[in-house]
Amino acid sequence: MDTSFLLNHLGEDRAAYFDAVSPPILQTSNFAFPTVAAFRAALADEQQHTLYTRGQNPTLVILNKKLAALDGAEDALCFSSGVAALSAAILNSVQTGDHVVCVRHSYGWTRHLLEHHLAKWGVSHTLVDGTRTEHIEAALQPNTRLIILESPTSFLFEVQDLAAVARMARARGIRTLMDNSYAGPLNPSPLGLGIDMVAYSGTKYHGGHSDVVCGVLSSSREIIRDIYKNEYMTLGQIPAPLTAWLVLRSLRTLHLRMARVADTTPKVVAYLAQHPKVDRVLYPHHPSHPQHSLAVQQQPQPTGLFSIVLKADSTAQVERFADALRCFLMAVSWGGHESLVIPACAFVSEQDTQPVLPFNLVRLYIGMEDAQVLIEDLAQALDKV
Ligand SMILES: *Cc1c(COP(=O)(O)O)cnc(C)c1O
Repeated sequence: MDTSFLLNHLGEDRAAYFDAVSPPILQTSNFAFPTVAAFRAALADEQQHTLYTRGQNPTLVILNKKLAALDGAEDALCFSSGVAALSAAILNSVQTGDHVVCVRHSYGWTRHLLEHHLAKWGVSHTLVDGTRTEHIEAALQPNTRLIILESPTSFLFEVQDLAAVARMARARGIRTLMDNSYAGPLNPSPLGLGIDMVAYSGTKYHGGHSDVVCGVLSSSREIIRDIYKNEYMTLGQIPAPLTAWLVLRSLRTLHLRMARVADTTPKVVAYLAQHPKVDRVLYPHHPSHPQHSLAVQQQPQPTGLFSIVLKADSTAQVERFADALRCFLMAVSWGGHESLVIPACAFVSEQDTQPVLPFNLVRLYIGMEDAQVLIEDLAQALDKV
């Protein structure tokens, strides 16, 4: 489908709201019915009717249609956060006695769900190095029901071969879930490679302005319907009407924002890759990445997140670099208008013998600023290392 049509018109019924160009925020908790027959029909199927705002809301209906179309999916749901979308997909896929395979270095709260909640209900898991499909295959057990992928992972940028994993899983009747927050919704959807469920932190590129928290899950009509009736409704994971409206507002410029980061990020990375104080860059779209060709094939459009490893012997040197940056805000998250930095030394110690990340790793996100402005800022900060 033509992206311009999708972002500007799909799902919008302007005649129903005074021909307003921007849809209304239906700030209501409940909806009234003229007859018992109409009320009965809505009670029988909350997903298809607007009955109550924990289940459905007209502002959200427009958004969900666009989210499904963006992923080329039969159906999609917007959630109150990215982890809400991930948890719903995971909880829907397993029961007591099942086993899950998940890539190591995946999003921390995804692993927390496996380690602290699913373990409690008798669901076991194995974390694997997903850079080789054989490692994933070797971790499978007769009771494996779900494989959780995140390609690339968001600090070390390890890539998985999505088509190969999907083929292997389908042959054994195992479901696959891919956290696609990194690539965003304009790269080809992993659904097209045979992945069963695709989740996003909508807080990142869908929201795009660092002012909203939400999540997205797209899949088959059947899986989405089952998740809707169970996890979505019982755990209360719907976003507020205002959140849905803010995301709709953001989607109008999604293609412009993604084109901007695709243009500027490789320039900033190229500068850093040749800098004498940078040991290496971890960016799937840089030729030095060990899985460059697979990464580019799966996600042709470059996006804005990467890490660098500084040539630093001490945490103090890394701190001087990060503290000196003026254009990069030191903050979690990414996908907004503003460039960001997270030095790993904020949560790993250089004394740690088995650290999760090297203390001299620094994650950067490139926002909407001019590449040259960012490069000059990085240059003056690197002088401090
Ligand atoms: C941010 C993020 C999430 C969580 O999304 P929230 O919207 O913060 O709940 C999940 N996965 C990845 C890769 C993320 O970057």
